[in-house]
Amino acid sequence: MSNTSPTLAQLEQKDTFIRRHIGPGKGEIEEMLSAIGASSLDDLIEQTVPAGIALPEPLKCGEGATEVEALSELKAVAAKNKINRSFIGMGYYDTHVPNVILRNVLENPGWYTAYTPYQPEIAQGRLEAILNFQQVTIDLTGLELASASLLDESTAAAEAMGLAKRVSKNKKANIFFVSDDVHPQTLDVVQTRADMFGFEIVTGPAEEAAEHDVFGALLQYPTSTGEIKDISDIIAAVQAKKGIVAVAADLMSLVMLKSPGELGADVALGSAQRFGVPMGYGGPHAAFFATRESYKRSLPGRIIGVSKDSRDRPALRMALQTREQHIRREKANSNICTAQVLLANMASFYAVYHGPQGLKTIAERIHRFADILATGLTQKGASKGVALKHSTYFDTLTVMVENKEDVLAKAYAKGMNLRADLEGAVGVALDETTTREDILALFNVILGDDHGLSVEDLDAEVTTQAVKSIPEELVRTSDILTHEVFNKYHSETEMLRYIKSLENKDLALNHSMISLGSCTMKLNATAEMIPVTWAEFGQLHPFAPLDQAVGYQEMIAELADWLIDVTGYDALSMQPNSGAQGEYAGLLAIQRYHESRGDSHRNVCLIPSSAHGTNPASAQMVSLKVVVVACDSNGNVDLDDLRKKAEEVGDNLSCAMITYPSTHGVYEETVKEICDIVHEHGGQVYMDGANMNAQVGITSPGFIGSDVSHLNLHKTFCIPHGGGGPGMGPIGVKSHLAPFLPNHTVINVETAGKDCGAVSGAPWGSASILPISYMYIKMMGSEGLRRATEVAILNANYVAKKLEGHFEILYKGNNDRVAHECIIDLRPLKEASGVTELDIAKRLNDYGFHSPTMSFPVAGTLMVEPTESEAKYELDRFINAMISIRQEIAKVESGEWDATDNPLHNAPHTLADICDSNWNRSYDRMLAAYPAPEVHRNKFWPTVNRIDDVYGDRNLICSCPSIESYIEG
Ligand SMILES: *Cc1c(COP(=O)(O)O)cnc(C)c1O
Repeated sequence: MSNTSPTLAQLEQKDTFIRRHIGPGKGEIEEMLSAIGASSLDDLIEQTVPAGIALPEPLKCGEGATEVEALSELKAVAAKNKINRSFIGMGYYDTHVPNVILRNVLENPGWYTAYTPYQPEIAQGRLEAILNFQQVTIDLTGLELASASLLDESTAAAEAMGLAKRVSKNKKANIFFVSDDVHPQTLDVVQTRADMFGFEIVTGPAEEAAEHDVFGALLQYPTSTGEIKDISDIIAAVQAKKGIVAVAADLMSLVMLKSPGELGADVALGSAQRFGVPMGYGGPHAAFFATRESYKRSLPGRIIGVSKDSRDRPALRMALQTREQHIRREKANSNICTAQVLLANMASFYAVYHGPQGLKTIAERIHRFADILATGLTQKGASKGVALKHSTYFDTLTVMVENKEDVLAKAYAKGMNLRADLEGAVGVALDETTTREDILALFNVILGDDHGLSVEDLDAEVTTQAVKSIPEELVRTSDILTHEVFNKYHSETEMLRYIKSLENKDLALNHSMISLGSCTMKLNATAEMIPVTWAEFGQLHPFAPLDQAVGYQEMIAELADWLIDVTGYDALSMQPNSGAQGEYAGLLAIQRYHESRGDSHRNVCLIPSSAHGTNPASAQMVSLKVVVVACDSNGNVDLDDLRKKAEEVGDNLSCAMITYPSTHGVYEETVKEICDIVHEHGGQVYMDGANMNAQVGITSPGFIGSDVSHLNLHKTFCIPHGGGGPGMGPIGVKSHLAPFLPNHTVINVETAGKDCGAVSGAPWGSASILPISYMYIKMMGSEGLRRATEVAILNANYVAKKLEGHFEILYKGNNDRVAHECIIDLRPLKEASGVTELDIAKRLNDYGFHSPTMSFPVAGTLMVEPTESEAKYELDRFINAMISIRQEIAKVESGEWDATDNPLHNAPHTLADICDSNWNRSYDRMLAAYPAPEVHRNKFWPTVNRIDDVYGDRNLICSCPSIESYIEG
C-alpha cells in the first residue's frame, strides 16, 4: 500500500493560481482560524459581515484558470490587435524603450511593487529618480519649479487652468482661453473641467488670446498640427492683462526649441511618454508640469525636495503641503494622489541613459527625417494636389491632400496609421523609431509609387539648402541636462548599476509585507505583469482605428463585465486614471444626472469625517459644497447627524460619499440605512471603492444600494503601485447614471454617455495595465475572488487578535471582528512614554518592515491591512516585531531607557550609525540594527537617517543637488 504512486490523473491536477495568490495554505488557515476563535472561513464571515448585505449568489467570473491557460488565452486575444506603424502623433509617439530600463525598471518588482514614498528613509532610490524627472522638466521647459508627475497631458492642462485661476491677479475674470491648435483631447478634458468649475472656455487662434478678459490661456508649442510659432508676444499680451499663460509642449521638440520659460510662459506641461514609455493604447504615462517658484504653493501634485537627515546628510522627501495634496481636503489645489511615478522614473532614466548629447542626436534625427519628408512632399506634391499646411515644424507635418480617405486607406493597407481627424488633410508625426524605409513608404502612400524620390538625395538637399523649418529665433541656445547624473551613465553596465543602486535603497514588496491600510498592497503576480510588455498591448496608439484594436476591445469588455458583476452595477467607464479621477468622474455623472432632471441646484456633498482626503478634494472639483458628517465613538457614521445634515441641506443635497467598510476598518451595520436616508432626500450615494478588498464576492456596492463607485484597480485588482502610480480608477454606475459616463472627442466610446466630455486624454485611460486586473480575475475565478476576500479578513483579524493585550485596537464591529484592516491606537502609549507614532513607524524599518498607514484616518494611529497575499509566517514576523517594539516602549515608559537616547527615538538606524567610530549611545549597536533574530536572514538598511521635513520646506530645493554633496565629509 505504502508503495502506490499517485495516478497520472492525480499528477495532472492543475496547479491553481489561487493557492499562489493567497498567502496562507490550508494548514495555516486552520491554525489562524483557531487562534481567533472561528470554526471556518464561512463562520468568520458570518460573524463579521452584517447578514443583510451578504450577496445571495456567487459571482459570475467563471472558474479560475491556471497561469499557463490564462496567459495563452490572453495571448490569443492580444493577437487580434493589429500593430501598424503609427504616424498619428497627437501627443503619443512610438519610442524605443531602452532594454536596460524595460527589464530593470518596468519589469522589475523592486521598482513596480514599491509604495508611494511616504517613508522617505526607505525610498531614497525612487525619490532620486523622481527628482531627476523634475530636473529634466526644469531643464527642458526653462521654468524654475517642477512637480513630480501628473496623470496625462490633458489633465495636466486642466490642472494648469486651476492654477491660473488660483494665482491670476485678474480676479474677476471667468474666461479661460484655449487656443484652437491644442490637441483635441486636451480641449475636451479642459472643457469638462471648466464646466464643473463654472469657467467659460473661449477658443480661437492663439493670436486672439489677449482679446478676451481672461484669467488664463492655454497654448500649444509646437501646435497639435505641428507648427512652430513664436508665441512670446501672445504670452506677454495675456500677461499684460494679468492672465496666466500655460504652454502645453512636446518634450522631445524642446531638446531643439527655445523653452516655454524663455518665451515667458508661466506654466509648461505635457507628456513624457516619448521618453521611453510605450504608447500602450493610451497609457500609463507621466505628465510633466513646471511653473514659477512663486506659485509653489499652488502647484498640483507632489514635489520632491531635498532636505537633510539627522546626520546632516542630504536626503529627499515629498516637500511642502504638496507632500500629498488631498490631505488639505476641500482646500487642496487638486485631488491628485496616485500619479504615474513608475513612468516618470522610466522617462527620467531615459534621459539619464541618453544624456544631453544622445537626446540631441535623437531629436535632430527625427527633425531631419521631417525635413526630408517635407522637402520631398513639396517637390513632388504640387502636381498631385499635395501641400504642406505649415512651413515650420519639428516632427509633425499636416499634409493637405485632395482625397484624404484614399490616402488613409492606402496607408492602412500598408500597415501605417496617419492622423485622420483633420479636414482635407492628414497628419504625419515622426518619432525616434522612424527609418528611411518609413519615409519612402510615406512618399508612396501620399504621392503614389512613382514619386522617384530618394532619401539620400533629399538629405543632401536639406543639408546644403539649410532648410529653416525651425524659425531662427526659436532654436534653443541654452544647455540642457548639464547635471552630472545625465552625463555619467551612458554605457549599459554603468546604467544597470545606477538603476540597481537606486533600487537597493528602496523597500518594496519583494523584501517584506507593506501592510498599508486603505491601500491594499497585495501580490502583483508575475503572470499578471507579463502581458503588460507584450508588443500587442504596448505599441498601439490610443487613437488607432477601432478595427485595429479588436483584442484590446475584447479584453476591456470582458474585464468590464466582470467588474460590473463584482460591483453589482450596470455600466462601467474605464477612463479615469486613478481613484481620485474616478471620484471626479463619478461626481460629474451625479451632477449631470441632477441637471438632466432640472435639479442643478443640488450642490451639497455629505462626507463623513473619517473620509479619505481625496473625497472632499474631488467634491470641490465639481463645485460641490462639503458638509462633514460626524462619526460616533465606534467609528461609524453617526446616523442622527447624517439625518440632521441631510434635512438641513434638504433640496440642495447632491450626494453623500461613503467608504465601505469604513476607513475605520469595520462593516457598518447601518450602511443600507445610510443609503436610504440619502436617497430619501433626493441625493445619490457615492461609495469610495478603495476598500473593495473586503467586499469582492461577499457583498457589493450595488447590492448595498449605492449609485456609483470607483474601483482602485491598483489596490484590489493587483495593478502594482509603482512607487506612487500608475493606477486605474474605473467607475461603476447604476443604469440611471450610465448616460453620464465620460466619452471622448476623438474616439467614440460606445458604452459612454452621448455628449459627455472626457476626464482623461485617452478613451480607456491607462489601457495597457488593464491586462493585470484581467489576468487576476481570470486566474482567480469567482471562487478564488471570494476566497481572497475571506482570507484578507482572516489575516486582519489574526493580526488584531495577536496584537490585543499589547496594543489597543481602535474600532471593532460585530462580534469584536474587524474587516480587512485594523487600526492600532498609539495615543495612550505616546501619552505614557513620549514615544510617537513616527518613532514606531521608523523603528519598524530596523525590523525590515515598511510602516503601516500612519495617522489616517485617525491621528496617532497605525492602520494595518495585511491582505490575503501574506502568509502566516510573514504575519507572525510582523506581529512579533510590533510586540517587540511594544516592549521597547515599555522601557522608555519605565525610565529604563532615556527619553531620547533610545532605539525608538533614533530609528531608523543606518550603516553610518552602526559604523560610527563615535558610537556613544546607551544601547547596543546590535540591538539597533538587528532587533529580531529573523533580521539576520534578510537585513534591509535604510540609506538615510530620519529626515528633517521642516528644514527642507524652509529651504526648498527641488532640483538635483551635486553628487559631491552625497559624499560624507
Ligand atoms: C487610495 C484611496 C483613494 C485615492 O485613490 P488614488 O488612486 O490614489 O487617487 C481614495 N479613497 C480611499 C479610501 C483610498 O484608499
